[in-house]
Amino acid sequence: MAKISINLGSGTIEKSSDIVVGIDLGTTNSLIAVIDGETKAPVALSDSDNNHVITPSVLYRHPDGHFLVGDAAKDMLVKHPEQTVYSVKRLLGKSFNDVSEFEASYGYKIIDEDEDRLVKIKLENQFYTPIELSAEILKELKSKAEAKLKLEISKAVITVPAYFNDAQRQATRDAGKLAGLEVLRIVNEPTAASLAYGIGLDADKEKVVAVYDLGGGTFDISILRIEDGIFEVLATNGNTFLGGDDFDQAIMKHWLDGHEVKFSDLSKRESQQLRLLAEEAKKKVCTTGPYVGSFRNTSLTLAESEFNQLIEPLVDKTIDCCKNALADSGLELNEIEEVVFVGGSTRVPFVVKTVSDYFAKSTIENTLNPDETVALGAAIEADILAGNRRDLLLLDVTPLSLGIETLGGLMDVIIPRNSRVPFKAGRNYTTSIDGQVNLKISVYQGERGKVSENRKLAEFVLNGIPAMPAGIPKVEIAFILDADGILKVRAKELRSGVEQTIDVKPQYGLTDAEVETMLKDSLSNAQKDMDYRVLHEAINESEYLIKSTEKFVANNRLTLNDDELGAIEKHVNTLTLAVAQKDKDQIQTAQDALNEYTKPFAERMMDNTISTALKGKSIE
Ligand code: ADP
Ligand code: MG
Repeated sequence: MAKISINLGSGTIEKSSDIVVGIDLGTTNSLIAVIDGETKAPVALSDSDNNHVITPSVLYRHPDGHFLVGDAAKDMLVKHPEQTVYSVKRLLGKSFNDVSEFEASYGYKIIDEDEDRLVKIKLENQFYTPIELSAEILKELKSKAEAKLKLEISKAVITVPAYFNDAQRQATRDAGKLAGLEVLRIVNEPTAASLAYGIGLDADKEKVVAVYDLGGGTFDISILRIEDGIFEVLATNGNTFLGGDDFDQAIMKHWLDGHEVKFSDLSKRESQQLRLLAEEAKKKVCTTGPYVGSFRNTSLTLAESEFNQLIEPLVDKTIDCCKNALADSGLELNEIEEVVFVGGSTRVPFVVKTVSDYFAKSTIENTLNPDETVALGAAIEADILAGNRRDLLLLDVTPLSLGIETLGGLMDVIIPRNSRVPFKAGRNYTTSIDGQVNLKISVYQGERGKVSENRKLAEFVLNGIPAMPAGIPKVEIAFILDADGILKVRAKELRSGVEQTIDVKPQYGLTDAEVETMLKDSLSNAQKDMDYRVLHEAINESEYLIKSTEKFVANNRLTLNDDELGAIEKHVNTLTLAVAQKDKDQIQTAQDALNEYTKPFAERMMDNTISTALKGKSIE
């Protein structure tokens, strides 16, 4: 079977060897992975010297304006903290107001040019959006993979935390685009992690899993129900300021407590140095044994038991999050069938033990490299979208409800949370005032009854409704959610045909013009993506139908006359032709015709089987 891939640029389906990569764009570290052509297994790509699979999500802006990304930039954290950006993922899709309380914790400058716009980062005298900076990280990953594979890469699947809202997902997508990548799909990190363990690849099995992801600076727990290729997020919880970095801090504090030196006595450079020593000690005690080092001519030591004591309160915090997530999911502890461990900090044996003890009976998945798991799963999803695993179709669900504001500031949900994506739903509304010619439509995301407690995504006005008494106009509002969970809203007055469509853009976005062109592209691609999937499914179904018809004919040749055999062959040929031409409507018509024609035979055969069975029985 030839490989089929979709060219999102032209919208055509073509034979190609095009590779789709999976990318884990992490807060601390990022990775890129592909399916190995020979082993068919996902692999995380290293750079050409085979050393560095992980790219630290750190950027240093060189005075000449270009960026250093990864390990080289990480070294600059000590030398040039003001020009070195880390944890940019925390700022994606956020306004200054969203992040101002944490501003002090960043070594670089975050600014609000205009408070309702996307937050920017000031480096030297230049302003950068988190989208542009994330794009720099993606570019680095792209060129790393291109050098390794000696192939040009233009298509990717990128993962995001399950709780990411519309604005954050759009921002991630835009970053991909700026890096020169067509983002075929935005996938939830816990979905990717499950896939990496093969969970969800067997469509018949239902499974409930907890994905425990402890990275460098963030902790996420997600509870998923996976069935028929659908990954339903039952609950998410976590702490966006809890992770391996806090383990390092705890070690530093422990070291300083035993000495006269205080945190405040350390220079910026020294505290970075001490932090790196703490991280080294952490990794050492978790793998090979006690750590011995030195700083300012004093010796530093750390034993595993000491380390476990230091981090116990932090690990307990993650367990509290697990309890909350479990309560939100409405499940009992014993209904969790497996626990999937993700994130570099789950390398710590004490973490794995504490979490496994809490989940008691569950099966544990931690055989993969925990900092590669998400990227490996993204590569599997990428492979599916590239058309290499034709039997599979994986879907995420939307984590938050989408709706509009109705009279009294109430949230009227149009697409409920946990709906599968892509999804389309509509509802009719009317005017409340006689002669009303405009209708303001405000779109919200969230679970609360009052819109003021939900997140506003967009607002637009449907103009030009002919003046009619209140209650007479019939305005249909349709929500069209694409496969990435990104929304388009259409409002149409049905009596007059007045219509307006908007692409919902993030509340805190790029400039209108930038977003407009970007979103137009992404939405038309999403439409093509969706068309492609529909066609793909129709082709699969046809191939199955043709096969089973041929089998039927082979098994029942004697009971069919020549006319019937001829007619079946003709219908099969028409369908085969339609499949070859990749025409969705023609395929559907030909399928229906073949089904219609063969139905009576199937019934007859069934009757035969029954009467044969009956014949075999002695009734007398
Ligand atoms: P993120 O998802 O936030 O980008 P990662 O999953 O890559 O982060 O995890 C990074 C964290 O994992 C860092 O805090 C790092 O110190 C920690 N880590 C990596 N290897 C080990 C190890 N062997 N032992 C303990 N912690 C580790
Ligand atoms: Mg991660």
